[in-house]
Amino acid sequence: METNNTNKYINLEKKYGARDYSPIPVVLKKGKGVFMWDVDGKKYYDFLSAYSAVNQGHCHPRILREMKKQAGQLTLTSRAFHNNVLGKYMEIATQYFGFERLLPMNTGAEGVETAIKIARKWGYLKKGIPKDKAQIVVCTQNFHGRTTTVISFSSDANSKDYFGPHTPGFIEIEYNNLTLLEKTLKENKNITAFLVEPIQGEAGVNVPDEDFISKAKGICKKHNVLFIVDEIQTGMGRTGSLLAACGNCSCENKCERQKKTYVRPDILILGKALSGGFYPISAVLCDDEIMEVIQPGQHGSTFGGNPMASRIACIALEVLQEEKLMQNARRLGTIFREKINQYISESKVVIKVRGKGLLNAIIINDDTKDKKLAWDICIVLKEKGLLAKPTHGNIIRFAPPLVITEKQINECIQIICDTLRQFEPTN
Ligand SMILES: *Cc1c(COP(=O)(O)O)cnc(C)c1O
Repeated sequence: METNNTNKYINLEKKYGARDYSPIPVVLKKGKGVFMWDVDGKKYYDFLSAYSAVNQGHCHPRILREMKKQAGQLTLTSRAFHNNVLGKYMEIATQYFGFERLLPMNTGAEGVETAIKIARKWGYLKKGIPKDKAQIVVCTQNFHGRTTTVISFSSDANSKDYFGPHTPGFIEIEYNNLTLLEKTLKENKNITAFLVEPIQGEAGVNVPDEDFISKAKGICKKHNVLFIVDEIQTGMGRTGSLLAACGNCSCENKCERQKKTYVRPDILILGKALSGGFYPISAVLCDDEIMEVIQPGQHGSTFGGNPMASRIACIALEVLQEEKLMQNARRLGTIFREKINQYISESKVVIKVRGKGLLNAIIINDDTKDKKLAWDICIVLKEKGLLAKPTHGNIIRFAPPLVITEKQINECIQIICDTLRQFEPTN
């Protein structure tokens, strides 16, 4: 129920804010682990995790403690000077993911922009692409952020229209289409990179064929094209392994050593849960042969690599490991899809469930023009104490913090099924 209290806060945003979002009408004031509380004290399961930025759970006590400590010590120096945390963070993160170098940024979109800059320059300096001719191949239904360059290669009209002139240099091909990728790379010698999400989160948890990522990497290698993986949403344990590109490998943190199952990108982009949800932190990782194209003065960020962010990221990575969050995501994700599939076998409202680890979505059977059904379902879920949001009209993503327990996820499955049942046709 929306109380006057709730409406007071919502109306303030409505009156003074830009209209760039249409949130579920709930006003939150507290979070802990898998739970959030609204301004009236009602408790909810969080099934969005801030688009997978709070994989470690809300206000994780260890990250909070270290953040507070660092906040009282030193927060920002800019990169005009060194600080005593950044180097250690770079060492930890590069070893964690198996790359030689890291470039620190803040938001995910900045990470993508950074990868684009590195890839273009690599194309000119190392591949010999003629000046200003570099092309980057991207996929239909991609989501890589909101900057002017990144929306230039979006396939979503709403994200893109009237924000032109758009940045040239991108070729869009169908997602999950290896034949088309091969053909495109073969025909055009000016392609410097292929930028891809291992699972398309914003598109509604689009899971490609099992071998798409590994074969795409092979095709890129063959044509001397950089393979850039955007793991901003899929990385950090979300899909049941450290990175979604790790596939089903069960090696916790030793992916580099088990190359059989780890599809190692040339450039890896991380964001969101690299911060445990505390602070915008993104990073681009690659080996020196690629990273060396960036020299002093050619890229940067005032806040990138600041001591607070560096400290938070170190602990966020540790928590993932120590609490075995990827293993938990894999195990509970399987249970989740199994039980939702049982429900779907007798359902007219839900068409299918798809996903990997704890990044899942259900497709609602709604071919009406305004696609209100998924929204209405999310409103009832909210009443029953579970927060999720529709995407693309008839898709609902379910992505709880990875600290969720088996008992809790079973309770949530119950809430979801009870809610869906209310929307089934009665005869
Ligand atoms: C969220 C997201 C981004 C953008 O991150 P911001 O921090 O919002 O700029 C980029 N790529 C993917 C795959 C994402 O999910």
